[in-house]
Amino acid sequence: MTVPFYGHVKQYHNIKSEIDANIHEVLESGQYVMGPMLKRFEKEFADYHGMKHAIGVGNGTDALWLSFMALGIGPGDECITHPNTFFATAEAIWIAGATAVFVDSDPKTNCIDPAKIEAAITPKTKAIVPVHLYGQCADMKAIRKIADKHKLLVIEDNAQAIGARGDGFKIGELSDAVCTSFIIQKNLGTFGDGGAVVTNNDQVDRHVRRLRNHGSEKRSCHSYGFNSRLDDIHAAVLSAKLKHIDAGNDLRRKHAARYTACLKDAQNITLPYEVPGYRHVFHLYVIETKRPEQRRPLLDFLSKNGIDAKCHYDIAIHQQEGYPWGKGARIVGSIANAERNAGCCISLPMFPELTAEEVDYTIAKTLEWDRTVGQA
Ligand SMILES: *Cc1c(COP(=O)(O)O)cnc(C)c1O
Repeated sequence: MTVPFYGHVKQYHNIKSEIDANIHEVLESGQYVMGPMLKRFEKEFADYHGMKHAIGVGNGTDALWLSFMALGIGPGDECITHPNTFFATAEAIWIAGATAVFVDSDPKTNCIDPAKIEAAITPKTKAIVPVHLYGQCADMKAIRKIADKHKLLVIEDNAQAIGARGDGFKIGELSDAVCTSFIIQKNLGTFGDGGAVVTNNDQVDRHVRRLRNHGSEKRSCHSYGFNSRLDDIHAAVLSAKLKHIDAGNDLRRKHAARYTACLKDAQNITLPYEVPGYRHVFHLYVIETKRPEQRRPLLDFLSKNGIDAKCHYDIAIHQQEGYPWGKGARIVGSIANAERNAGCCISLPMFPELTAEEVDYTIAKTLEWDRTVGQA
């Protein structure tokens, strides 16, 4: 048996008629850039979040740095985030000309640890950039409190957690902007690249709209800007898929619950932690080996048995070649949790279309490896 890591084509086949009909509508409309399909999807996506505005952009990285720029974050400013995330979180800070400051992650959730943030605040600090890592919201209530106390902006990197919720808070409710990626492997993915900014802030909406389209609000008139638009064909795919996102996330949660129930007694791995009251949408199901030297053997064992597991993210940002980019990126305090996460993480196959047999086979092989290793 083989277990793939992604189910992109399966997902397409499941809702092919809806996706094809939407794409066909765009093709026949003759309007492929900034057309009616983009408008329609932006409205649907804002409504999905219960927010005023959604602006489609070229990708998730652009969503981040265009938001930073729209909020006035640039050279001389510092943004606090954590190093065990996808590279783009920090990359976007550098593209905006600002400085990334890294603090540790929470040992259980692997999201930014709010208790570590205040030590990193300086007069230059402009924003906190929490990542809803692996599909679970960061502790936004604690982050909002710190931001209010120090008058900081909060920009949510929500590339991984569309449809997630916190305990008594929704994504977007406690921040200035929410940035999403629609690259195919994300929970809501198009057949290529895409991204969006979601916000209740009219100024951010206006700025991002202008910046993504050559600084133009009116035909022929331009101020400073770029080209980062979400194509109508992608909007068509996303509009069709948005109707299924909650059902897809429910399936991810079902697979995760099965993994957790069956793997909980394994001696040599730790399992993902879901904060009570949160809705984790399991963009990834990330386990950790108890010791870093166990990771390669487990990955090899799964691979030998036809299971495609991966690592997210085995090289933390501060461990990347050439770090630090930009001026003066720095680490504040111990980042032992982030380094443990990077050193021990393994993502088991996780997508809505996984079959029960595939989940159970992955569980069986993981337990088989665990038994051969014995007590940690
Ligand atoms: C995927 C991802 C991004 C970047 O999205 P792209 O669309 O690839 O530019 C940013 N942050 C996180 C946490 C991501 O997972």
